[in-house]
Amino acid sequence: MKNDDSNIKKTIKYLNNDECVAIPTETVYGLAANAYSKKAVSKIFKLKKRPSNNPLIVHYHNINQLKKDCELNDVFKRLYKKFCPGAISFVLKKKKTSRISRNVTNDSNLVAVRFPSHHLTRKLLKKIDYPLAAPSANISSSISPVSKHDVIDEFGNKIKFVLEGGSSKVGLESTIVNLVGNPNILRLGGIDSKLIYKFIKSSKNKQKGKVNVRMPGSSKLHYSPDIPMRLNAKKNNHGEAFILIKKRKKINKNHFYLSKTKNLREAAKNLYKILRKIKKKGYKKIAVEKIPNIQIGEAINDRLLRASKK
Ligand code: AMP
Ligand code: MG
Repeated sequence: MKNDDSNIKKTIKYLNNDECVAIPTETVYGLAANAYSKKAVSKIFKLKKRPSNNPLIVHYHNINQLKKDCELNDVFKRLYKKFCPGAISFVLKKKKTSRISRNVTNDSNLVAVRFPSHHLTRKLLKKIDYPLAAPSANISSSISPVSKHDVIDEFGNKIKFVLEGGSSKVGLESTIVNLVGNPNILRLGGIDSKLIYKFIKSSKNKQKGKVNVRMPGSSKLHYSPDIPMRLNAKKNNHGEAFILIKKRKKINKNHFYLSKTKNLREAAKNLYKILRKIKKKGYKKIAVEKIPNIQIGEAINDRLLRASKK
C-alpha cells in the first residue's frame, strides 16, 4: 500500500515532466503521457514506432474530468453509467476549447476516451489535472503487454518507469464504440458487444464492421507474435505450438491451454501471455484450436484473426 503510493508519486513526477511511463489497466498495460502536451505525446509515438496517423485513447478518472474535452450525448451517458469504469472506449466529438493535443487525435475533431477500472491507475488519474493518452505499451503491431514483465520485454530500459499493478484482469484491449452519428462498434474487446448493443437504444443501427472513422487496430497485421498461425486446427502438425481452449487429460510439451475448463474470460486473460511464452520458447509455427465465437470469445477470435494475417 505504502509502496503503491510512493510508486504513484514517482509516476506523477515523470508525467509532469512530459515523460511517458507504463501504467497498469484491467485490459492491458498502457504507455501513458499527458494528453495535453504535444511533447509528451510525441514520445509515445516514437517509443512505440507507431504511425502518427493512428490516434490514441485518452484516459480519465470520471465523467466530470471529461466534460471539458468532449461533447457528451445521451447514449454515452447511458453506457457510462452501465459499464464505467471498465473495458470500453468511446469515440466522441472533441470540444473546440479542449486542450487535447492535436497529435493525440491525428488532427481530427473526434477523440476516443476511456475510464480504466484498475485501482492504481484510478488513484493516479484522480491526482493529476490532465488526462492520459495511453495506447498499449508494446512496439506497434506486436502483442500487447499484460504484466510489468511484458512491458520490460518490449521496451527494456528505453522506458522511464513502469507502475507495477499485477497482471491485467481482462487481458484484451477495450471494446471501442463510436458514438458520433449512428453508434457502432469499431473494435471488439473486453466488454461483450451484444451487451453494449442492448444499451444502445437505436439498435436498428447496428452496423458491425461498417466503419466511417479510422478503426483502432485495423491495420492488417496487429496483436501479432510474428509467427505463422493456423486457426481452427483440429490437431497440430509437427513442430507447431498448439493452443488449446481447454486443458486436456494428456498435455504434451507443445500444448498450451487458454483455460482449464473452457472459460472464455480466463482464456482472454491468458491469450497474450501464452502467445508471448510460445514466441520466447522459439516455436516457428502456431496452431490454434477453434474458440467458441460467443461473448468475449468474439474478441479473442478477432485478435487471433489479425495476428494470423501476413
Ligand atoms: P491501443 O490503445 O493501442 O489499443 O489503440 C487504440 C486504438 O484506438 C487505436 O488503434 C486507434 O485507432 C483507436 N482510436 C483512437 N482514437 C480514435 C478516434 N478518434 N477515432 C477512432 N478510433 C480511434
Ligand atoms: Mg495497441
